Amino acid sequence: MNRYLIIISCGLFWFLFSQQGVAQDHSWSHYDTTGFFTMDSVYKKGYTLLFINKDSTFDPGVKRQLINTFFIVYPEEAERFNPQTAKKVTFIIDPHYKGVAATANAVTRFNPEWFRLHPEDIDVVTHEVMHIVQDYHTGDTPGWLTEGIADYARYVYGVNNRSSGWTMPDYNASQSYKNAYRITARFLVWLSKKVDKSIVVRLNASLRDGTYTEDVWKRLTGKTVDQLWRAYSINPILKLHYR
Ligand SMILES: [Zn+2]
Repeated sequence: MNRYLIIISCGLFWFLFSQQGVAQDHSWSHYDTTGFFTMDSVYKKGYTLLFINKDSTFDPGVKRQLINTFFIVYPEEAERFNPQTAKKVTFIIDPHYKGVAATANAVTRFNPEWFRLHPEDIDVVTHEVMHIVQDYHTGDTPGWLTEGIADYARYVYGVNNRSSGWTMPDYNASQSYKNAYRITARFLVWLSKKVDKSIVVRLNASLRDGTYTEDVWKRLTGKTVDQLWRAYSINPILKLHYR
């Protein structure tokens, strides 16, 4: 049976490459062992992380933080959004990957150059492994909402957002909920505080079981997503706390 591999490419090239369907593509999870290559397998809390490093210059301190962060955030995200999520996850530090990071199935590739320039941006992990937890494979899964939920998870579960200077931008009139990432995430935080504290769990459930349509917003809240955005635009003030 053909299974399409959904690669969720985050960061720089999202609009070009997000959610490519690649039929029977095994190259994403394939790693070659030529050249510099190290592999660590770490087991904790019922989860295994295979950490493959293809960059001899990769900072060992950053490596340690990526691993530690995985074992803090992944079990928390899994417990809330998908307890059946993959028990084994692979990280590949891949000098050939030119985005920031991208995830397909339970494999995340990271661009080492990004961490050389942004060594505090450890919660890229928190965002990426949320894509593993999401595991959206059926039905209508709009990219803006997939990425918005991943950044919502980064805000809620992140461990180093404050030090890295990662924030969700204040509302302004040029924004749309379809802007994805941090703009959508802030809207989701607002909805959680002002409308329904379980809204993200419920949206995630509908995206996971393939029942998501625009009507879900109305069913969950009594309002369309456009009406909710309008209410947000009128009173977007939020007290935010970054870890
Ligand atoms: Zn993403």
